[in-house]
Amino acid sequence: MYQAKAYSARSATSALAQTAVTRRDPTEHDVQIEILFCGICHSDLHQVRNEWRDVMPTVYPIVPGHEIAGRVTKVGSAVTRYRPGDLAAVGCMVDSDRTCPQCQAGFEQFCPNMTLTFNSPDKHLGGVTSGGYSDSIVVDEHFVLRIPSNLNLAGAAPLLCAGITTYSPMRHWGVGKGKKVGVVGLGGLGHMGVKFAHALGAHVAVFTTSPNKKEDALRLGADEVVVSRNANEMQRHTASFDFILDAVSADHEIGPFIDLLARDGNLTLVGAPQKPLAVPAFGLLFGRRSLSGSLIGGIAETQEMLDFCGAHNITADVEVIPIQKVNEAYERLLRSDVKYRFAIDMASLQSA
Ligand code: NAP
Ligand code: ZN
Repeated sequence: MYQAKAYSARSATSALAQTAVTRRDPTEHDVQIEILFCGICHSDLHQVRNEWRDVMPTVYPIVPGHEIAGRVTKVGSAVTRYRPGDLAAVGCMVDSDRTCPQCQAGFEQFCPNMTLTFNSPDKHLGGVTSGGYSDSIVVDEHFVLRIPSNLNLAGAAPLLCAGITTYSPMRHWGVGKGKKVGVVGLGGLGHMGVKFAHALGAHVAVFTTSPNKKEDALRLGADEVVVSRNANEMQRHTASFDFILDAVSADHEIGPFIDLLARDGNLTLVGAPQKPLAVPAFGLLFGRRSLSGSLIGGIAETQEMLDFCGAHNITADVEVIPIQKVNEAYERLLRSDVKYRFAIDMASLQSA
């Protein structure tokens, strides 16, 4: 075992501050990674503040972070795919049972014994896992991803959550040429959703509560932008969308978006607000529309997404910050003031 530098929160109301975490020495199947960048996902904030307490209560102290990009420093004797010096990435999962039907089908994210990168029971050390706001992590080779060498590393880190979470449902629901696709909420997930829908050839509309994001939305690949609080603008799109991805982090009405779906259209929720959302039955009845959810993506699909990003030169638009600014970044997330993902430069942890 060894100590790694990290940032943690001690309670739902305390700021994140510097600490040390214990990491295991790499076992034979493990890869040890020096973390160079870690994206800040709104899920980090939800969990630091225990907003998901009804579903997955937070264990303190918590070290968040599941958009990890770095360099391999050591590998176990049975590791075959990575060598010291390689670039490597880790997303929201660090383990699963590998034997259940979900794992066998490539859906590790739905394995009943899946281990999340942070705040999940740690099978090796006891307690809970510590995430990527840290300078080092040790992860089983199966859960380590390869970053295409042409991608900027800070911009690639958010692909490990924001990227796969938006790519996976778009592939599942057949987003492509000839489809009209909406993305609700232009934050970290939303801006990746726009890039993917555009790259897949769909006609893309962004729904935003922030009129000042209009130009950015068009630059990111949107064909049109709708200010969702403007009922007239919304009405113009009634019953016209094949697919809408809702990536909103806070309480909001989904009925108005269901009304925008065409016959057999689908609204997929990836946003995970604290409180249940109200579903108007009639919106679904007329038009045989459907409402679903989606959770990140499996390991093979995550690698497929990274390779797609390599081929299309897609990364997140990041604002790189030192870790000392993480608490300020959380406040800005709550004001929808993120363009469009914060990525922590982990070198800043050494100067603290
Ligand atoms: P984010 O960067 O903070 O973006 C959220 C966006 O939602 C904001 O930029 C804003 O966009 C919009 N928004 C915020 N408050 C709103 C309100 N009151 N009403 C309407 N729109 C509002 O968050 P993120 O990191 O992209 O994460 C989004 C959500 O997805 C979070 O709940 C997160 O936990 C969840 N998530 C789920 C998965 C999964 O596997 N399903 C994975 C990762 C994250 P505009 O300014 O454009 O309105
Ligand atoms: Zn995330």
